[in-house]
Formats: sequence, structure tokens, C-alpha cells
Amino acid sequence: MHPLPEHPNLAATDTGLLEAVASGQARLTPEQGLALLRAAPGTLLGRYADARCRTIHGDRLRTYIIDRNINYTNVCNARCTFCAFRRDGDEADAYTLSHEAIHDKIAELVAIGGTQILMQGGMNPALPLAWYVELLTSIKRKFPKVHVHAFSPPEFIEFVHFFDPPGDSLEAKIRYVMLRLREAGLDSLPGGGGEIFAPAVRQRIGLGKCDAEAWLTCMYVAHSLGMFTSATMMFGHVEGLADRVHHMHLVRRWQDRVLAESARADDRAPPMGHYVSFISWPFQRENTPLGRVPDWGADPAEIDQPFPGDLAARLDGSAAKHDHPLLGKRVRMSGAAEYLRTQAVSRLFLDNIYSIGASWVTMGPHIGQVALAWGANDMGSVMMEENVVSSAGTTYCLDEAVICRLIRDAGFTPAQRDNTYDILRLHTGPDSPDLRVKDWSAHRARTLHRQAPRQAKATLTVAAR
Ligand code: SF4
Repeated sequence: MHPLPEHPNLAATDTGLLEAVASGQARLTPEQGLALLRAAPGTLLGRYADARCRTIHGDRLRTYIIDRNINYTNVCNARCTFCAFRRDGDEADAYTLSHEAIHDKIAELVAIGGTQILMQGGMNPALPLAWYVELLTSIKRKFPKVHVHAFSPPEFIEFVHFFDPPGDSLEAKIRYVMLRLREAGLDSLPGGGGEIFAPAVRQRIGLGKCDAEAWLTCMYVAHSLGMFTSATMMFGHVEGLADRVHHMHLVRRWQDRVLAESARADDRAPPMGHYVSFISWPFQRENTPLGRVPDWGADPAEIDQPFPGDLAARLDGSAAKHDHPLLGKRVRMSGAAEYLRTQAVSRLFLDNIYSIGASWVTMGPHIGQVALAWGANDMGSVMMEENVVSSAGTTYCLDEAVICRLIRDAGFTPAQRDNTYDILRLHTGPDSPDLRVKDWSAHRARTLHRQAPRQAKATLTVAAR
């Protein structure tokens, strides 16, 4: 499989180029991606991102998945400055869920028709490999049909550090651990911990977290073992716009690599996986050390001056953290408009990624609905709880009926999907979750600030991550 042709001599806003990108006949260069992100009119970005989305996904269906987000521990040896979830381990609210507690959560999910768990946690040095193997084995024994989407690359890199597996390279060590977990029941990896790959930014915000090379290598190993994964990006903090494009470019290049290897593979070789989706969302500042960093422009002397992140950022990710004295010392938060612009550019730039997820959990359901017109085809996860983002500020919880109504009101037919985007239920008839509702006054979006106390009865809510 060959990457699409690039046309570096054309302006990023050339309508012929954008039409070719939208129809899947051309690829944007990083310079063109940056030019779009910097200065293209929002209406242009939205129109072509929507056209690209419709080329891939058609005009009719937009999807969501029912799963449960299980954060098995909040004890973590990293110190990401954007994180309000982590604990050292000796605080009163530090926790590690027992296997039985995790089983109980999955049983509640199964009882309401859920098909997947998204299981991630802090990087807890107290948990041995056997803890994970036994957990996965017991989940598959009790719930053989539940898809286990678990352990993001930073967790895997810490598994390598904690367990010291055999192998003469990081890739070999990751492969050793991943094979053990795959055999025990791991089905796929979530794309958590992507943040921003450029080292000058990553070293500022992801203290103790793996670097980009390790993150991407971990995903490559997962793909080589036949797993389908997602990639993520958290933006709207200290990074420059070129850092966002560099991040997407790395995802696209590694996807090119794995797709090319897959195309070359012998028919008798086990099938390879690849990135199946990309989700980006703006940083949420509440309760986080990074959130206390002053906003750019709060000082009158900074008004109308270029943002330090933009002055330092390079499309090849080569900026050094000392390239600007204020790099990392000012934040530029992203609101809804910037979120939609970034998502639209991701849809246009990531021509080899199937799905773009609307990350409305932090922006609100109606921004999520608008995101369906800005390149997103998927409303993310119908989840029963959310702990990580909600620790850092307001997130929204919706029930399945509301998510279906948001999709339908945006002009599409809602459909429940599985982890590989196969359709499980198409909601066309009067039995659809939204069309059964007689009284919408009981279905308002509610906010969720922290993990809800354990409930006797499972409540289905929706969030996108
Ligand atoms: S974001 Fe994840 S890895 Fe970073 S401190 Fe929080 S729990 Fe740990």
C-alpha cells in the first residue's frame, strides 16, 4: 500500500488540493497542515473535513460504543502536570481495585448490553505481572464475550521497567510482556498517554512518562500482534501549533509503516493490526499543576505577541525546551472553536486513519454534535463512569438515548459499534433508544466531577475518550 501523493507546491487552501484530499486522492504535507491550522477560515476547514468524513463513512451512519471505563488504580509513579487523578499511594483516597471489584463492574456492564471495557490506570509499581495475567485470565473466564481494551503505551513501558522482561531492545521487552497479556486475554490497546510527542513539550507536561519513540514502538508491537489501537492527542496547553502537526505526522508515518508491512506480508502470516482511530481533546486545567500556569496574554505586555510555544515549535519536533524563556511557563487554552479546527485538520491530515472521534466529554454534548459536521464520525464511548478527565474538571454524562438523539438531530442515523467499528445495532425504528423516550425532561446532560459513589443499580452514561 502506497501513501497518497503530496503536492507541496500548492497552497494549503487551494480548493483543488482540498477536494483531492477530501476524496482520498492526495495527502497534505506537514507544512500544509500547519498552514490550515494557523490561518484557514473555519468554514473552509469544516466543509472539507466533513467532505473527507463522508467519503470514508458515507452520509448515513454515525456511531458510538457501549463500554465501561475501569481505572484499576490511581497510584502512579509519574507526575504529569496536567493530571489531577494520580496519587502517591499513601493518601486516604489512593486505591487499587481488587479483581473481584473489577469483575463486579464488568457484570454491571454486561447487564446493560455493554460489549467492551476500557481499562487503564496509573503506573503502580506495587503490582506484579502475575496480577495483570490473573486479572485478564479471570475476566476472559467469566466474561468471554467482553472485549478487553486496556493498558495504554505508558503503562506498558512501565511494565517493562517494573518487570525487567528478557529482550535486547525495548521493542523485544515490550513484545515479551504484551504476548503474556495477549495470551491472558488482552484484545487491544487504547491510545492514552499520547499528549504531545515533541520532546520540548512532553518533558514539561509528562514528567516520568515515556517518550514518543517508546509510545509509538509500543503501538507498533501491538499492531504486529494483530491488535487494532487508537491514537490520541491532548492539546491546548504549552504546545505550539507545529507541535500538533508534528504529533499527527508521527502517527501517520508509523501507520504508513505498519500498513506497508501488512500489505507485503505473506498470506499465511497472522494478520497485522493498525491504528483504527484518532481522538484529540483540549487540556482541562482544574485541579492540575499545569492549570495554574498563567495564561498567555494575562500580562498586558504579552497581548498581540506570538505565543512562546509557537516560537519554539518545529514541524520535525526538534525544538529544545530552552528555545524560548517562557516555553512551558504560559498556557494557551483551547475553546470550542480551536477544538473544532484541530479536529478538522486531523481528519484531513490523517488520510490513513479510519475513524475520528468527537471528544465532546470535556466540551459538552452540543459541541460534540457540531463535531460531527467537522470531520468526526464517532461519538465515542457510552460509559458507566469516568474518573480521569473528571478529576481535572467538568465532564458531561449522557445516557444512550441522548447520544442517539444528538446523532439523529445532527442528520445521521445512530448506530452502536464494536471495537473494530463493525455495526452491532442500527437505530432506525421506534425501538431506538432515543425514539422510545416520551419525556425528555429527565434526560438533560448532567455534569460529573468525580467518581460517583458505588451505586446499587448501574446507570448508563456516555463519555468520549
Ligand atoms: S496522566 Fe496517567 S501517567 Fe500521568 S500522572 Fe496521571 S495517572 Fe500517572
